[in-house]
Amino acid sequence: HLFSYSTLIINNDKNIGVLVVIRDITKMYALESEQKNFISNVSHELRTPLTTIIGYTDLLNRRGTDNPELLSKSLNTINSEGQRLLRLVNDLLSLSKYERADFKLILTSVDINTLLEDVINQMKIKSLKYNVDIDYKRLELPTIHGDYDRLKQVFINILDNAIKYSNPGDIINVVAINYDDYVEISIRDYGPGIPEDNFSRIFDAFYRVEEDRSRQIGGTGLGLSIVKSIVESHNGQVRIESKTGEGTMVVVKLLLEKI
Ligand code: ADP
Repeated sequence: HLFSYSTLIINNDKNIGVLVVIRDITKMYALESEQKNFISNVSHELRTPLTTIIGYTDLLNRRGTDNPELLSKSLNTINSEGQRLLRLVNDLLSLSKYERADFKLILTSVDINTLLEDVINQMKIKSLKYNVDIDYKRLELPTIHGDYDRLKQVFINILDNAIKYSNPGDIINVVAINYDDYVEISIRDYGPGIPEDNFSRIFDAFYRVEEDRSRQIGGTGLGLSIVKSIVESHNGQVRIESKTGEGTMVVVKLLLEKI
């Protein structure tokens, strides 16, 4: 533990008093260093694509735009790095919004089948591009009390990872199971999996398993921390079950609406 202390000596004609204030600043210190870490991570994430963009524009400035191959390669890279920056800024904005103390959910009665089908539809183009099939069977399910758009974001982020990490021709299983007072929705892929020693940090901002591979695949490292923020703001839970080489299952547990 870390402590700070200050002393005040009170001295008048009759009495001498000493006031000592000792404060435990362990938590404050941890928070501060977490914030510093976050800022240094963000700066690093911004700098990488910016350096590439500046590099390619400098190159075109020096070599001119006559070479069609160089021109096309440069423009494609500038565009994809620009897209990466936009994704990063959008994710940062979402995360900062959800973590504000005054952030309010817009709560309605949410039908899980409608929600999951909406998400799967939205991810159709991406799943076709990766040649991955998403399997989901509509079951009788009660409703939950939640923020539709935020919950949609949760399942889009999880499914987006499942698609990105699947092998072509793979299937992704989306299953919702109804328990007494909660529902568990699991998204299972047959990709490379996540080693167990990463489980505790996987929901941290900017944490990536195998930094280079994950970066190449195009994630911002913020997807799962956004998932956790939203799920916890619904008093729910999210966990990972995975084995290296066998795939990954992300399980979201949400409370059912009380009737
Ligand atoms: P990203 O935007 O990089 O995907 P996330 O926060 O969504 O960031 O995920 C954190 C990291 O967890 C990823 O970079 C990746 O290494 C790993 N990961 C997440 N989902 C999967 C999955 N379905 N299969 C394998 N690895 C995954």
